[in-house]
Amino acid sequence: MSKIEPQPGILDIQPYVGGKSHIDGVENIVKLSSNENPFGPSPAAQEAVKRSVHQLHRYPSTDHASLRQAIAEVHGLEARRIICGVGSDEILHLLCQAYAGPGDEVIHTEHGFAIYRIGALAAGATPVEVPERERVTCVDEILEACGPKTRLVFIANPNNPTGTMIGMAEIERLAAGLPDRALLVLDGAYAEYVEGYDGGAALVETRDNVVMTRTFSKLYGLGGLRIGWGYAPQEIIDVLNRIRGPFNLSQTALDAAEAAIRDTAYVEKCRVENARMRAWLSEALAEHGVPSDTSMANFVLARMGSAEEAEACDAYLQSEGLIVRRVAGYKLPNALRITVGDEPSCRRVAHAIGQFKAGARCP
Ligand SMILES: *Cc1c(COP(=O)(O)O)cnc(C)c1O
Repeated sequence: MSKIEPQPGILDIQPYVGGKSHIDGVENIVKLSSNENPFGPSPAAQEAVKRSVHQLHRYPSTDHASLRQAIAEVHGLEARRIICGVGSDEILHLLCQAYAGPGDEVIHTEHGFAIYRIGALAAGATPVEVPERERVTCVDEILEACGPKTRLVFIANPNNPTGTMIGMAEIERLAAGLPDRALLVLDGAYAEYVEGYDGGAALVETRDNVVMTRTFSKLYGLGGLRIGWGYAPQEIIDVLNRIRGPFNLSQTALDAAEAAIRDTAYVEKCRVENARMRAWLSEALAEHGVPSDTSMANFVLARMGSAEEAEACDAYLQSEGLIVRRVAGYKLPNALRITVGDEPSCRRVAHAIGQFKAGARCP
């Protein structure tokens, strides 16, 4: 037996499994399993990527000044309180690494995003799961679970995979009620989909215990390039920058993100189209007897009658070339998370679920 062992907690991590992207023997598939923008990135971002090939021998910017400035201008924020990471996943990991360790507790909700638990365990801290109420984040439950060991509280708003969100007054109550040493992390991966919602940016500016994270992977259609960012009190940004890799983001990624965030017309077009097809899809599912909560994001959580039915429906959809996401690992064994695709994809998936409900099974 080797004496070489990883740090405590590491072997408790179940490796993250991404959404499936192919089915053996099936062509012309539609991937609705990873909450990607069906229209891809803005043409301006694509142009920026092409231009960047001429500079690939150069090291990228280490301070991300140009991208931070663009984010600050578009969102009306202070550039010096922004940090950019390799997806928002990196920011979530940096927060765990910097603020939680052995003996500390990291709170996440029942159907919360998998990375919160992984990041906590990777830092040697103890993840604490808190119940939701009917698939909605519950501030009272979180406050009840808080104690002197609590260092981080993660909530995604809107949440993945439920699609539900809570109002700003509830978030403010949560931030105000946390113990002194605890930091609230508002994961805004889907904030852009909610019209008029700032993801909690204004709250970050008025409190010293709130951080917001955002991503270019969802509405901006740049999941393949890995870019996210965080907004936090200055002291926290300074802490995270001490452990961030100096060249964490490629210049290609930085340039693409800057072009994407400045193309506000494209963002607006994608948001409007998502809202239209999301309403259509949940309505179509309801007509087939499949309920879902009102989603504020770019996916719908379809609730089947049982775990068996969810599994059989998933198998049938795959036989029809449609990939959705099973979410049993998120304690939702009865449900299927379906990304809002373009109109033909939404029609295909709704039609196939209708056929399944009418008795069709995979061959
Ligand atoms: C997709 C997602 C993220 C972000 O992922 P990155 O690609 O690393 O930016 C973060 N939180 C939630 C809840 C997500 O669904």
